[in-house]
Amino acid sequence: LPGSIFEVNASPMPGGGAVAVLHDITRIEQVERTQKDFVANVSHELRTPLTSITGYVETLLDHEESLSENARSFLSTILKNALRMNRLTEDLLVMARVESAEQALSPTPIRADTLVRDAVLSMSGLIQENEAVLEVGELTRRQVFADHDAILQVLGNLIENAIKYGQARNATHSRVIVSAREIAAPFELVEFSVRDFGQGIASEHLTRIFERFYRVDKARSRESGGTGLGLAIAHHTVQMQGGTIRAESDLNAGSNFIFTLPVAQYPIADEES
Ligand code: ADP
Repeated sequence: LPGSIFEVNASPMPGGGAVAVLHDITRIEQVERTQKDFVANVSHELRTPLTSITGYVETLLDHEESLSENARSFLSTILKNALRMNRLTEDLLVMARVESAEQALSPTPIRADTLVRDAVLSMSGLIQENEAVLEVGELTRRQVFADHDAILQVLGNLIENAIKYGQARNATHSRVIVSAREIAAPFELVEFSVRDFGQGIASEHLTRIFERFYRVDKARSRESGGTGLGLAIAHHTVQMQGGTIRAESDLNAGSNFIFTLPVAQYPIADEES
């Protein structure tokens, strides 16, 4: 077929020769592309009506003295759910952008410790709100080659999860340690880690949490405003920048989310380092 792309799986035969199996992946890719475009378009189209619903409900709630108890309670529920749908459509749009590689990434050499400090600063509101204890561990000054804002989102998402799910039983607050250390072999990398001491993740879930919409405890995730897309977005964002992401966890002892980024081959002059 004109314009087809074939994936070739060749296997050698005993006694010589080979069998080649050709798969036409053009159609599969087209179908996937259409599905992803559809999701992105729907999410985009939902934004305007959702903004309108949220706006009107907020205005009504601003005049709560004129509302009956029932009306106030129903409107609050409508608002909560509209905001949840808002988060979902936003996450779906980010996901579609990241997956289609349309997200305009502008990687530059940037110090790993700066990334961690900026991420912690951007999460200070949530840290205070939840009375979480955030510690900054080992921090390398090596420069990685990455998009500052995209990595800030990844770190922010992992910190948010560590705060949300990282509260140990009977503890009054979550404790989170963020660090970035250099790894020399086999490749020069910086390994970022966000560790918590919370409920942990059972091994049967651990392999699946980076999938879209996968949540260990749906009710708990929903209650804390989760969409199940954060780790899938983080996974793609890190991968697009030449890194990998993984999670290690012990049930009831805590989790450690670790991602790597390549060290900048041509670091920029930096007075402080
Ligand atoms: P959500 O929006 O539900 O937080 P994520 O993609 O960020 O979605 O995470 C997927 C699921 O992985 C969460 O619903 C939760 O069950 C689990 N999870 C993520 N981070 C942690 C953590 N630090 N400790 C325990 N479970 C976690």
